[in-house]
Amino acid sequence: MRANCWTGKRSVEVREVPDPTILNRRDAIVKITSTAICGSDLHLYNGFIPTMREGDVLGHEFMGEVVEIGPGVDGLSVGDRVVVPFPIACGVCGACERGMTALCENSNPNAGIAEKLLGHSPAALFGYSHMLGGYPGGQAEYARVPFADFGALKVESDLSDEKVLFLSDIFPTGYMGADMAEVGPGDVVAVWGAGPVGQFAIASCFLRGAERVIAIDRIDHRLRLAQETGAETLDFEQVSVPEALAEMTGGRGPDKCIDAVGMEAHHANHALHAYDRAKQAAMLETERPHVLREAVMSCANGGIVSVIGVYGGFTDKFPMGSFMNRYLTMRAGQCHVHRYMPTLLDHVRNGDIDPSFVITHRMPLDDAPKGYRTFLEKADDCEKVVLTP
Ligand code: NAD
Ligand code: ZN
Ligand code: ZN
Repeated sequence: MRANCWTGKRSVEVREVPDPTILNRRDAIVKITSTAICGSDLHLYNGFIPTMREGDVLGHEFMGEVVEIGPGVDGLSVGDRVVVPFPIACGVCGACERGMTALCENSNPNAGIAEKLLGHSPAALFGYSHMLGGYPGGQAEYARVPFADFGALKVESDLSDEKVLFLSDIFPTGYMGADMAEVGPGDVVAVWGAGPVGQFAIASCFLRGAERVIAIDRIDHRLRLAQETGAETLDFEQVSVPEALAEMTGGRGPDKCIDAVGMEAHHANHALHAYDRAKQAAMLETERPHVLREAVMSCANGGIVSVIGVYGGFTDKFPMGSFMNRYLTMRAGQCHVHRYMPTLLDHVRNGDIDPSFVITHRMPLDDAPKGYRTFLEKADDCEKVVLTP
């Protein structure tokens, strides 16, 4: 089959690779109809995540048709149309039973590597390096889906791929950003990053009744898209973000702050030099304040900072004094996609939201290298790229 493979820093290649086969009783093979490129893929593309190997199949946002099932897969049949959540989760371990499927205790065969880097291991993810399981991803013609009876969400045929594909990741992730921040009626929320994840965080805040959402980015077309959803906007290259936020909120700051940026290039340098204090200090001297620092410093007293942007390694100079003295709360995590999928599918079905609003680029799978370049550079007003095998 054809598959998009990681071939080194800023390099991917669509290659011929072996078809996946059923390896375990609860596996299914899915013939992929749509798959997307995520901001998380850019961390791999940029070479920020260790434990990638040349030839690894990328992709964790995908959907398609079940073409084969193992003997232990209940509730799914060949021919079913499914959306696959990006964390691989068994559904029966302690973490899964508590709804924390991004922390599944049974899916990462390389937990030992993750423990060395992170202390404990989270769940494995599709197409996301060997420390997170080494599973081939879904930017391909077919994928093996472990624990398919628990993971794969059946969808009706009257909903187009473009309306349901993002249930695999960015819609639930944006929603979890709002959920972790306990966003509710009357809240004023600031969202850093108007990429696809930020857009779904903004939309989710409004779905949950937020009164105002302020989106922060520097890319015009992304800020315009946020405005169309109802957000006010700030260009972080034009204003001091904490000052502008204070001004817009009568000096109090936003009640809730969501980081939908994570380790952009300059931030990731901190992670890469995690153990080199001198290099970190030098970088801090010359850089704009880090999103996390801005979010903590800007947040209203007693507020919540919710981090859905992905980080690796260490992020230094956390403003602990501000955080402690002002009774702030911070939550962070990879999205427990399984937990949110059914409710968000209802929202799509009811017409409360059409998730395809973020799609700007549609390409055949074979154009994945061009898709990655365009999405990385935010060229050609790119917001989100969907690939079709
Ligand atoms: P993206 O790269 O398209 O968007 C990031 C946006 O942040 C860009 O528009 C960029 O201009 C903006 N930005 C950069 N620096 C900024 C700053 N200082 N202030 C405000 N905005 C800034 O990526 P995306 O697909 O939207 O993903 C965003 C983040 O979410 C990534 O880190 C990705 O890994 C993460 N993510 C997390 C999960 C999860 O489960 N927690 C799931 C999917 C994606
Ligand atoms: Zn993703
Ligand atoms: Zn589990």
